[in-house]
Amino acid sequence: MSAPIGILGGTFDPVHLGHLRICVELRERLGLDHVRLVPNRVPPHRDAPRASDQVRARWIADAIADEPGLVLDTLELEREGPSYTADTLASLRARFPDRPLVCVLGQDAFDGLVTWHRWEDIGSLAHVVVVPRPGTPRSPVESLPGLTRTDRVEDLHDRLQGCLLAADVTPLAVSSTQVRRLLVQGRSVRYLVPDPVWRALRAR
Ligand code: ATP
Repeated sequence: MSAPIGILGGTFDPVHLGHLRICVELRERLGLDHVRLVPNRVPPHRDAPRASDQVRARWIADAIADEPGLVLDTLELEREGPSYTADTLASLRARFPDRPLVCVLGQDAFDGLVTWHRWEDIGSLAHVVVVPRPGTPRSPVESLPGLTRTDRVEDLHDRLQGCLLAADVTPLAVSSTQVRRLLVQGRSVRYLVPDPVWRALRAR
C-alpha cells in the first residue's frame, strides 16, 4: 500500500510553529507521504475566525512554500455550511480510495471528539493520531467505536483506516489565541509564527 496521507484540520487563525512542527515531525516519524493542512470555513465548535478564509489560506501557503511534504488543502473553504471533519474525511476518502488517511488531532481537540457531528464514522474513513498539547492534561487515548488503539506505526500503513495512535512531538506551547492576544497588545509574535506570517501580520 502507498504511504499514508496526514491531515491536520484547524482554524489556523493564524498558522503557528506548533502546527508546522506537528506536521513535519509526524511526517518523518510515521512515514507519511505528505500532510495536508485543512483550514476550516465555519468551525462548528467555536467562534468564527477573525481573519478571512483567503487570508488564513494565504498565510498557510506562504508558511509551507518551501516545504514539499506539506500541502494546503482548501476543500473546507470551498464547502458551504459547518466544516465537519467527518464530511472532509469522506471527501478525501473518495479522492484517495487506496491510501491510508491519518487525521491528526491535538489532545485538546481529541478530548472533544465524541461530541463531533458523525464522530462514529471517523474510524471508517481514517486513522486518528493524537499529539500532546501543552496546557491540556494528557488523558489516556483509548479505543473508541470504530477506532482501535495501537502502538504500532506499521498498522497505519497496513490498513486504510480505523487505528488510534498516540504520538509524541516536541511540545510547543504556542496557540493562535496567544498570537492574537499579543497582536492586540501591540507585542511581537516573531518566532511564534513562521517568518512570512510574521511579516504579513506586521504589515497589517
Ligand atoms: P486557537 O488558539 O485559536 O484555538 P489553536 O492554536 O488551537 O487555535 P487550531 O488551528 O485550532 O490552533 O488547531 C488545529 C489543530 O492543531 C488542533 O487539533 C489542535 O489541537 C492542534 N494544535 C494547535 N496548536 C498545537 C500545539 N501547540 N501543540 C499541539 N497541538 C496543537
